[in-house]
Parts: sequence; C-alpha cells; structure tokens
Amino acid sequence: MGRGATIYVNRYACLTAFGGCARLRSEMDENFRSLPSVDRLLTDGRIQRLEEAYSRPFVLRVIRQHLEEIRLRIAQGEPAPMFDQMAESVCAQVHSIAEPSLRRVINATGVVLHTNLGRAPLSEEATAAMEECAGYTNLEIDLDSGKRGSRQVHIESLLCQLTGAEAALVVNNNASAVLLALSALAKRKEVIVSRGQAVEIGGGFRIPDVMRQSGAKLIEVGTTNCTYLLDYEEAITPRTAALLRVHSSNFVVIGFTQAVALEELTQLGDRYDLPVLDDLGSGCLLDTTRFGLGPEPMLQQSIAAGAGLVMSSADKLLGGPQAGIIVGQRALVDKLRRHPLARAARIDKVRLAGLAATLHHYLKGEAESKIPVWRMISASLEEIEERAERWSRLLGDATSVVEGESMVGGGSLPGGTLPTCLVAIKGRGKVNQLADQLRKGSPMVIGRIEKDLLLLDPRTILPGEEEALLSRLRNLELS
Ligand SMILES: *Cc1c(COP(=O)(O)O)cnc(C)c1O
Repeated sequence: MGRGATIYVNRYACLTAFGGCARLRSEMDENFRSLPSVDRLLTDGRIQRLEEAYSRPFVLRVIRQHLEEIRLRIAQGEPAPMFDQMAESVCAQVHSIAEPSLRRVINATGVVLHTNLGRAPLSEEATAAMEECAGYTNLEIDLDSGKRGSRQVHIESLLCQLTGAEAALVVNNNASAVLLALSALAKRKEVIVSRGQAVEIGGGFRIPDVMRQSGAKLIEVGTTNCTYLLDYEEAITPRTAALLRVHSSNFVVIGFTQAVALEELTQLGDRYDLPVLDDLGSGCLLDTTRFGLGPEPMLQQSIAAGAGLVMSSADKLLGGPQAGIIVGQRALVDKLRRHPLARAARIDKVRLAGLAATLHHYLKGEAESKIPVWRMISASLEEIEERAERWSRLLGDATSVVEGESMVGGGSLPGGTLPTCLVAIKGRGKVNQLADQLRKGSPMVIGRIEKDLLLLDPRTILPGEEEALLSRLRNLELS
C-alpha cells in the first residue's frame, strides 16, 4: 500500500472519530467500493493504447496515484468520478507528464537577450556543430599521439586569437568562472572590490556571496557612488590576493559618480604584484556603439588593459551557448585549470562545439550576419518596419504598426534601447486573454502588453519563425 493510501486511512479514521454520521459513512463506503481496481483500468482501450507508447511501470504508477487522489477526495466527502472520467484523467496525466516541457518559444518581446527565454539563440552553424558532436567526438584525444588530451584545446586558441590573451579556459557559466577564479587564487586571502561593484547580478548571483563561497575575504572600498584609486591602494595588505572589478551589467548609477579605470587598476596591481580579476559579464567582442548603443566593455579591451583574468558569459552578447569564458595570463589560467572546481564546473562536448562554431563567425568577420543576437541588434529600422507593415497587412484591421523600442537585456547594456516598429494588436479589453492564448499554444509566442495593446517586435523573431507566428496570429480571431 502506498503512502497516499495510508493518509486516506488516517483521514477516514479521523472523520469517523469526529462524528461523521452513519448515513454519510455508508455513502462514503459505497463510493470507495465503487472504485475500479488497477487491473480493471488496465483493460480499458484508451489505457491499453497508452501502454503502446509508454512503459508499463510508468502507466501503473500514474493509475495508482490517480486512484489514491480519488480516495482522498472521497474521504473529504466528494463523490467518486465515473469510470470513463477516471480513464480520461489517467490518459491526460500520462500525456502531460511525458510531453516535453522545455520547448521552443517565439520571442516577440523585442528583448534580444531574454534570460527567461534562454538568452542567446544560436546560429545555424552552431546548432549544426552541436548536433554533429552529440555522438562520439575527439573531445579528449590527442589525434597525433593517440593519448589523452584536454577538451580545452578545441577552444583555447580561438579565444586567444580573438581577445589577444595568452591562455583561455571555458567552464559551465560565468558564475562558476568567477567562483573558480576566486577559489583558486584567493582562498583564505583578501580581495579588494569597490563598494559600488559588490553587487547582485540577478538570479542569485551576488558578489559578496560568491566571495564567501570561495573562501576569499571581501574587502569593500570606497562608497556606493565613488571609489578612487587611493581607496584600493590603502586597502592593500600582505594578505591581499587580487583586485576585483565587476562590470555593472544590469544597472546604471548616474549623477555624481567616480570609478577607477581598468588601466589604472592594473597599474596599481603591477606595482604591488597583484592580479586584477575582471568580471565582465556580457563578454562582448564587437563594438556596440556602432549600432547606436552605449559602450559595452569588450574582452579584448580588458586584456589590452592588462587584466590578469577576464571572465564572461558565452550566452549574452557573445551569442553562443551557456558557458563561462576565462581569458588571461597563462600562469593564472593554469592555476585555475589545476583546481578541483575546474572539474566540477567543466563544460560538456555539445556546448563546446557550439561555442567553437560561434567563435568561428568572429574569426571570419561574419558575426553580424550569422550570429542571431548581432543580426537582431544590427537590423535596420527600415527592415523591421517593412516586416511589421507586411504582417499587419496580412492580419487585417485589428492590427496596426506603432513605433517603439527594443531592448538588448540579459544583463548587458542596462537602459540601452534600439528604435523599432511593433505590430500592435488591439486588446478590446481582453489583452491579457490574448497574451495567454498566444503563450499557451504551439509554438508558444511571447509578446509585450502595453495598455490595451499586445505588441509584437519583429526584431527578435527569427526569419524561419515568420510563417508559424502568422498562422498563430490568424487563429486568434482578432476582429
Ligand atoms: C551575467 C553575469 C554573471 C553571471 O553569468 P552567468 O553566465 O549567468 O553565470 C556574472 N557577472 C556579471 C557581471 C554578469 O553580468
């Protein structure tokens, strides 16, 4: 007898003890007795068809759980459902558990890097490389000698070429890159950070917490808005292991502010023989100001400024799969490589292949045309307007085209927007229902709601998704 059944016995006992009258009790007994056996449910045609697609133990478990839920409800005084209804519920439950839950979404929000929608969409080439490397690969075989090699060789020279660094290491994500760097270089020692940079990046990543985890002691200097070079220098002691800079990825401080430039920090580090660790966040390789955006610091700039280690995500503005990129001085990277956490945070072959293919786009000078994130950022307003107008014409009077803004998002360029054109669908007082419908169908479509309008931004809709999007919109019965 399962756990649920035990609960039912207890509740039934309680009910009996606390004066459930005799008539109710006999009705309840009747309801219990009317419940079909597991075997009886297994003979139902619908459930037999389930067994063709799913394993018997799985179907059995769902049937038993369902019967137990019904017993609980009966014990609370509810009537027993009909046999047909039970069989249908079992089928529905099996399908809802077995149906893939993680699925493709059409991102019509206009937020290019939407953390909740999985950050960067990958290029065709990256996707193909990941598919190819899903099987056996030469991940850790040195093909010349036939001996064991390192998985990092497939990526290190690409990163060094693109950033000018001496050495590189790729791990699970940027959070683990920062944790690894602090653990390997600063455990039981001190790391100096500007108070304005001891921040929370989101999703539970807080610099002071990561620092504590690594065993390094956080020494905060300066104030929230102003930190000077002298603040760092005065905090240096024989226990100092590093100076840390953290890029303010998702917020801006405006007004009276003062931060120390990376070059000044690395000069100070050189004088005291201390490495500067630079948590860059987005890990951009292209100049964002060319697209009318504010400047986002680039990996190659940090290396040129003399940072000892630079850490970034691979799935933000770099436009690749989730990974943490570490580039910098060889001696430091080697220390990280040898640390046990490097193994705990290691990257898998499939993402490694996707990241290498993404980096190839930069080497070939085709990042803007091939990497979806950059294609979206560099799309011209005319091109977006043309798509919005065309879709609105196809969809009819319930839609119009309005001007608006797209966002880069995803922990980069806080407040940075790009002018865009949006397809606006009139909500007629039911805009939330419209958004729900779009979100719940297949493929799921996620838009933006503003007042009584549902807004769809063509900027973040991939070319191959247009058909599916239009067909979902046509089925909404807009007018
Ligand atoms: C995004 C970000 C992180 C976390 O990176 P993940 O790849 O999400 O682990 C850490 N630091 C900064 C500055 C960031 O912007």
